[in-house]
Amino acid sequence: KAARASAPRGTTLRVGPLTVGGGEFAVIAGPCSVESRDQLLTTARAVHRAGAHALRGGMFKPRTSPYSFQGLGAEAVDLVVETKEVTGLPFVSEIVDVRDVEVMAECVDVLQIGARNMQNYALLREVGMTRIPVLLKRGLAATVDETLLAAEYLLDGGNDQVAICERGIRTFENSYRFTLDLAAVAVFRERTHLPIVVDPSHAAGQTGRVMPLALAAAAGGADGIIVESHCDPATAKCDGNQALPTGDLPELMRRLEYAVSAA
Ligand code: PEP
Ligand code: MN
Repeated sequence: KAARASAPRGTTLRVGPLTVGGGEFAVIAGPCSVESRDQLLTTARAVHRAGAHALRGGMFKPRTSPYSFQGLGAEAVDLVVETKEVTGLPFVSEIVDVRDVEVMAECVDVLQIGARNMQNYALLREVGMTRIPVLLKRGLAATVDETLLAAEYLLDGGNDQVAICERGIRTFENSYRFTLDLAAVAVFRERTHLPIVVDPSHAAGQTGRVMPLALAAAAGGADGIIVESHCDPATAKCDGNQALPTGDLPELMRRLEYAVSAA
């Protein structure tokens, strides 16, 4: 069902002001995780002012260490609801547990399946049963084929609002966090009708590398980016090193326009 041949003109994921695919370029920006009312509102206002189309923010965080900040969980719901009222931006957030569908459905417009859960088939089946749009991230060691088969689980459940996200894979290179596989974006484009989003942040691992990777993704034909941005990166509880200060978002948006027109 994910094969290009089943929808040759491509499919489009739509939620309010967010359109992924169909010739539009989508920008989803926001913090790695929801930390506080002030942090979320301040960041979201800047994301909105810059002209981005959706806000991201983890409520439940899949952390490499069990001792790292795990997210506010259900406590984030009220903050997210309030922030959405203020900005009107749809909210993208990662689901890590099949038991969280109900609580997340209260405030999340796009469910993100994280790289670490790309092959969590029970989770894919559960999310495939919902009609909530999904951003499916490529696993850190998953091939293009494996990623498309993971998408197939979602589509097979009847959820056809699915976008694929390239976020970097693990290679021998260790001078940055993950290897952003832009060749895979071109291959996904050949192989599937699903829209393709790129996450420059988790590959970059460091703020200064985010903008060039974002521009490369746009020039390389991606349908959008999901980028980590924080009102005060130094205080971030998660992924602060790679967060674009919200003050840099207007420049990112400007430069993306050129890159998209080059694609
Ligand atoms: C994230 O988006 O913050 C995240 C954890 O991403 P990934 O699953 O790609 O590592
Ligand atoms: Mn992150």
